[in-house]
Amino acid sequence: MIAIINRILIVDNDTSSVFQIGAVSSRDETIILHVLKKSGCYTEKLIMNGITRTTKFAFPVLVVEDNLLMRKILEASLMEAGYEVVSAGNGREALEIYGNGYYPIIMTDWVMPEMDGLELCRVIRESHSERYTYIILLTSQDSKTEMIQGLEAGADEYLVKPVNPAELTVRLKTARRILDLESSLKTSLEEIKNLSLKDSLTGIFNRRYLNERLPHEIKRAYRYERPMSLIMLDIDHFKAVNDTYGHQTGDIVLKGCADCITGSIRKEIDWPARFGGEEFVIVLPETDLPGAMVVAERLRQLVAGRATRTNGTVIRITASLGVASFDPEYQREPVTAEILAGHADKCLYQAKNGGRNRVIGIQL
Ligand SMILES: [Mg+2]
Repeated sequence: MIAIINRILIVDNDTSSVFQIGAVSSRDETIILHVLKKSGCYTEKLIMNGITRTTKFAFPVLVVEDNLLMRKILEASLMEAGYEVVSAGNGREALEIYGNGYYPIIMTDWVMPEMDGLELCRVIRESHSERYTYIILLTSQDSKTEMIQGLEAGADEYLVKPVNPAELTVRLKTARRILDLESSLKTSLEEIKNLSLKDSLTGIFNRRYLNERLPHEIKRAYRYERPMSLIMLDIDHFKAVNDTYGHQTGDIVLKGCADCITGSIRKEIDWPARFGGEEFVIVLPETDLPGAMVVAERLRQLVAGRATRTNGTVIRITASLGVASFDPEYQREPVTAEILAGHADKCLYQAKNGGRNRVIGIQL
């Protein structure tokens, strides 16, 4: 028996599909992915102990109607059209169901006890959910004033009861077209955002991302009173690489250095960024100076030990590294992103002046 305990929306970059992690069982290794497909059906992927089982389901519609007879008629029409139906007797019940999972389409009656259709529309629109929900308002009132009132409350569509099954099917097709558009737009925006924060050559974060995220990371260190470190790495005599072998080879060397960095830090915790040119920054949350010095030294050795082979020549480089750490518990002066990076930069200069290919660190 699989108990639904959580639902999270994620966007998969490979397929541009919208996945919904529908459920996680009591056993951690079991995950269900609800893949909303453009066809109107959606696929459920059950991954259990590494084995994937795929089952196709109909597109879900949440029907909200207090009149039992009307509800049954609607359910029958929708199921006939190939939809999966989940029903609620009023707005409050619908919100409870909606809170436990994403329903792309809600078809709701207007007049209902406890919470009416207009209120339901307003609450859903105010919730600013990650994914768009297309709301169709059903009512026996067909005056212009009421229609405007319904649309103003956040409904996308307005249908007068009794609903004609053919009209219902067409309206649902429109709903799915809008939802598909919304889904592709969201995926594109996500891609654009990712691109704008990544360095195109190395694939790691860029300076813009560093400027945005570093202050948050420092705030977090203060909030949890945890130490934090920042490493600044600069490739030694990089200009000579460009001058001797050309910029294309220089780019290969830069990419190699970025690979060394990503390979030597903790995934999901530490994060690197290209500061500019041949300079990189590595942010190490939850890391004190001795810990950061170990990472920096390992990185120095990795860079120095790496050989870039291109057009029959072997290029070897070294890097100088500056490390700055602080611990909110012992910090007298408040640390900002500028202060932390400034100290790491000073250490980097000392490493350069001391003969390069070395690590210098400071405790703030
Ligand atoms: Mg009613």
